[in-house]
Amino acid sequence: MSMRIGLGFDSHAFKPGVPLVIGGLKIDHPEGLAGHSDGDLLLHAITDALLGAVSAGDIGTFFPPSDPKWKGADSTVFLQTALEEIALAGYKIVNIDCVLIMHRPKIVPIAADMRERVADLLSLDLKNVSIKAKTPEGLNHDGTAVAHVVALLESIDLPEEHKKLTAEADVPDEADIDGVFTTLISKTHDITALGRKPAFDTDDLT
Ligand code: MG
Repeated sequence: MSMRIGLGFDSHAFKPGVPLVIGGLKIDHPEGLAGHSDGDLLLHAITDALLGAVSAGDIGTFFPPSDPKWKGADSTVFLQTALEEIALAGYKIVNIDCVLIMHRPKIVPIAADMRERVADLLSLDLKNVSIKAKTPEGLNHDGTAVAHVVALLESIDLPEEHKKLTAEADVPDEADIDGVFTTLISKTHDITALGRKPAFDTDDLT
Protein backbone atom coordinates (compact mmCIF):
# COMPACT_ATOMS: atom_id res chain seq x y z
CA MET A 1 0.00 0.00 0.00
CA SER A 2 1.21 3.50 -0.75
CA MET A 3 -0.07 6.76 0.63
CA ARG A 4 -0.32 10.27 -0.79
CA ILE A 5 -1.14 13.59 0.80
CA GLY A 6 -2.69 16.69 -0.76
CA LEU A 7 -3.12 20.29 0.35
CA GLY A 8 -5.91 22.59 -0.79
CA PHE A 9 -6.54 26.28 -0.22
CA ASP A 10 -9.19 28.70 -1.40
CA SER A 11 -10.57 32.12 -0.54
CA HIS A 12 -13.60 34.06 -1.73
CA ALA A 13 -14.94 37.51 -0.89
CA PHE A 14 -18.41 37.89 0.55
CA LYS A 15 -20.97 39.51 -1.72
CA PRO A 16 -24.50 40.64 -0.82
CA GLY A 17 -27.47 39.17 -2.60
CA VAL A 18 -26.03 35.84 -3.73
CA PRO A 19 -26.70 32.44 -2.13
CA LEU A 20 -24.16 31.17 0.41
CA VAL A 21 -23.03 27.59 -0.21
CA ILE A 22 -20.22 26.04 1.83
CA GLY A 23 -19.37 22.35 1.73
CA GLY A 24 -22.34 21.74 -0.56
CA LEU A 25 -24.64 23.09 2.14
CA LYS A 26 -26.98 25.99 1.42
CA ILE A 27 -26.73 28.42 4.36
CA ASP A 28 -29.25 31.09 5.28
CA HIS A 29 -27.15 34.26 5.34
CA PRO A 30 -27.55 37.76 3.83
CA GLU A 31 -24.31 37.44 1.88
CA GLY A 32 -22.89 34.72 -0.33
CA LEU A 33 -19.43 34.27 -1.81
CA ALA A 34 -18.48 35.96 -5.06
CA GLY A 35 -17.23 33.59 -7.71
CA HIS A 36 -17.45 32.37 -11.27
CA SER A 37 -19.02 29.18 -9.90
CA ASP A 38 -21.27 28.95 -6.83
CA GLY A 39 -18.28 30.16 -4.75
CA ASP A 40 -18.15 27.07 -2.54
CA LEU A 41 -14.63 27.59 -1.22
CA LEU A 42 -14.65 24.43 0.91
CA LEU A 43 -15.45 22.13 -2.03
CA HIS A 44 -12.88 24.01 -4.11
CA ALA A 45 -10.19 23.46 -1.46
CA ILE A 46 -11.13 19.78 -1.10
CA THR A 47 -11.01 19.41 -4.90
CA ASP A 48 -7.53 20.93 -4.99
CA ALA A 49 -6.33 18.75 -2.10
CA LEU A 50 -7.50 15.60 -3.91
CA LEU A 51 -6.07 16.64 -7.28
CA GLY A 52 -2.82 17.67 -5.61
CA ALA A 53 -2.50 14.35 -3.84
CA VAL A 54 -2.29 12.53 -7.18
CA SER A 55 -0.37 15.35 -8.94
CA ALA A 56 -3.27 15.94 -11.34
CA GLY A 57 -3.06 19.73 -11.40
CA ASP A 58 -5.67 21.91 -9.77
CA ILE A 59 -9.26 23.02 -10.16
CA GLY A 60 -8.31 25.56 -12.85
CA THR A 61 -6.71 22.75 -14.86
CA PHE A 62 -10.09 21.20 -15.44
CA PHE A 63 -12.47 24.13 -15.09
CA PRO A 64 -10.82 27.33 -16.34
CA PRO A 65 -12.71 30.45 -15.26
CA SER A 66 -12.38 31.69 -18.84
CA ASP A 67 -14.93 29.04 -19.86
CA PRO A 68 -18.47 30.48 -19.54
CA LYS A 69 -19.77 26.92 -19.18
CA TRP A 70 -18.78 26.98 -15.50
CA LYS A 71 -20.48 30.26 -14.62
CA GLY A 72 -22.63 29.63 -11.56
CA ALA A 73 -21.66 25.94 -11.62
CA ASP A 74 -22.49 23.62 -8.74
CA SER A 75 -19.09 22.89 -7.18
CA THR A 76 -20.05 19.26 -6.55
CA VAL A 77 -19.26 18.80 -10.27
CA PHE A 78 -15.64 19.83 -9.60
CA LEU A 79 -15.43 17.51 -6.61
CA GLN A 80 -16.76 14.59 -8.63
CA THR A 81 -14.01 15.14 -11.20
CA ALA A 82 -11.37 15.08 -8.46
CA LEU A 83 -12.85 11.81 -7.14
CA GLU A 84 -12.63 10.34 -10.62
CA GLU A 85 -9.02 11.47 -10.94
CA ILE A 86 -7.91 9.83 -7.71
CA ALA A 87 -9.78 6.63 -8.68
CA LEU A 88 -8.02 6.68 -12.05
CA ALA A 89 -4.70 7.04 -10.25
CA GLY A 90 -5.61 4.01 -8.09
CA TYR A 91 -6.24 5.80 -4.80
CA LYS A 92 -9.05 6.32 -2.32
CA ILE A 93 -9.48 8.83 0.51
CA VAL A 94 -8.45 7.87 4.04
CA ASN A 95 -9.53 11.11 5.71
CA ILE A 96 -9.73 14.84 5.20
CA ASP A 97 -9.17 17.65 7.67
CA CYS A 98 -10.55 21.13 6.91
CA VAL A 99 -10.23 24.57 8.46
CA LEU A 100 -12.67 27.35 7.58
CA ILE A 101 -11.69 30.90 8.53
CA MET A 102 -14.39 33.59 8.51
CA HIS A 103 -16.09 36.03 10.83
CA ARG A 104 -19.62 35.29 9.63
CA PRO A 105 -21.69 33.20 9.60
CA LYS A 106 -20.80 31.23 12.69
CA ILE A 107 -19.94 27.73 11.52
CA VAL A 108 -20.36 25.88 14.82
CA PRO A 109 -24.21 25.74 14.67
CA ILE A 110 -24.11 24.28 11.14
CA ALA A 111 -20.87 22.30 11.37
CA ALA A 112 -22.60 18.96 11.95
CA ASP A 113 -24.82 19.37 8.87
CA MET A 114 -21.86 20.53 6.80
CA ARG A 115 -19.75 17.59 7.90
CA GLU A 116 -22.51 15.16 6.99
CA ARG A 117 -22.94 16.76 3.58
CA VAL A 118 -19.20 16.63 2.82
CA ALA A 119 -18.93 13.02 4.05
CA ASP A 120 -21.86 12.11 1.80
CA LEU A 121 -20.33 13.84 -1.23
CA LEU A 122 -17.05 11.99 -0.66
CA SER A 123 -18.70 8.66 0.25
CA LEU A 124 -16.74 8.69 3.52
CA ASP A 125 -17.67 7.68 7.05
CA LEU A 126 -18.32 10.70 9.22
CA LYS A 127 -15.31 9.83 11.39
CA ASN A 128 -13.05 10.47 8.38
CA VAL A 129 -14.23 14.04 7.81
CA SER A 130 -13.11 16.86 10.08
CA ILE A 131 -14.28 20.45 9.68
CA LYS A 132 -12.97 23.09 12.05
CA ALA A 133 -13.79 26.78 12.11
CA LYS A 134 -11.74 29.77 13.19
CA THR A 135 -12.31 33.50 13.22
CA PRO A 136 -9.61 35.53 11.45
CA GLU A 137 -8.30 37.38 14.49
CA GLY A 138 -5.80 40.06 13.54
CA LEU A 139 -5.84 39.21 9.84
CA ASN A 140 -8.13 41.99 8.61
CA HIS A 141 -10.13 39.37 6.67
CA ASP A 142 -13.61 40.52 7.65
CA GLY A 143 -14.99 40.36 4.13
CA THR A 144 -13.28 37.16 3.08
CA ALA A 145 -13.80 33.46 3.70
CA VAL A 146 -10.77 31.15 3.64
CA ALA A 147 -10.51 27.35 3.56
CA HIS A 148 -7.54 25.04 4.09
CA VAL A 149 -7.83 21.29 3.50
CA VAL A 150 -5.48 18.34 3.89
CA ALA A 151 -6.44 15.02 2.31
CA LEU A 152 -4.74 11.68 2.92
CA LEU A 153 -5.11 8.96 0.28
CA GLU A 154 -4.15 5.30 0.19
CA SER A 155 -3.69 3.06 -2.80
CA ILE A 156 -6.48 0.69 -3.72
CA ASP A 157 -5.38 -2.90 -3.35
CA LEU A 158 -6.82 -4.18 -6.60
CA PRO A 159 -6.66 -7.92 -5.86
CA GLU A 160 -8.43 -7.38 -2.54
CA GLU A 161 -10.98 -5.07 -4.15
CA HIS A 162 -11.60 -7.71 -6.82
CA LYS A 163 -12.30 -10.32 -4.18
CA LYS A 164 -14.51 -8.07 -2.10
CA LEU A 165 -16.56 -6.67 -4.97
CA THR A 166 -16.98 -9.90 -6.86
CA ALA A 167 -17.90 -11.75 -3.65
CA GLU A 168 -20.85 -9.36 -3.32
CA ALA A 169 -21.77 -9.47 -7.01
CA ASP A 170 -23.97 -11.92 -8.83
CA VAL A 171 -21.35 -13.00 -11.37
CA PRO A 172 -21.66 -15.88 -13.84
CA ASP A 173 -18.72 -18.28 -13.51
CA GLU A 174 -17.46 -17.52 -16.99
CA ALA A 175 -17.59 -13.71 -16.54
CA ASP A 176 -14.43 -11.77 -17.23
CA ILE A 177 -13.27 -10.64 -13.80
CA ASP A 178 -11.70 -7.40 -15.03
CA GLY A 179 -14.89 -6.49 -16.84
CA VAL A 180 -16.96 -7.11 -13.73
CA PHE A 181 -14.60 -5.03 -11.63
CA THR A 182 -14.71 -2.13 -14.10
CA THR A 183 -18.49 -2.24 -14.16
CA LEU A 184 -18.73 -2.20 -10.37
CA ILE A 185 -16.29 0.68 -9.99
CA SER A 186 -18.12 2.61 -12.72
CA LYS A 187 -21.21 2.59 -10.57
CA THR A 188 -19.34 4.70 -8.04
CA HIS A 189 -17.20 6.82 -10.33
CA ASP A 190 -17.92 7.61 -13.94
CA ILE A 191 -14.58 6.36 -15.18
CA THR A 192 -15.78 6.56 -18.78
CA ALA A 193 -15.12 10.28 -18.53
CA LEU A 194 -11.55 9.83 -17.34
CA GLY A 195 -8.34 10.18 -19.19
CA ARG A 196 -8.66 13.81 -20.16
CA LYS A 197 -5.75 16.02 -19.32
CA PRO A 198 -6.43 19.58 -20.42
CA ALA A 199 -3.62 22.06 -20.86
CA PHE A 200 -2.33 23.17 -17.50
CA ASP A 201 -3.91 26.40 -16.33
CA THR A 202 -3.34 27.58 -12.80
CA ASP A 203 -6.10 30.18 -12.84
CA ASP A 204 -8.51 29.60 -10.00
CA LEU A 205 -12.25 29.72 -10.20
CA THR A 206 -13.09 32.91 -8.36
MG1 MG B 1 -12.64 28.98 -5.47
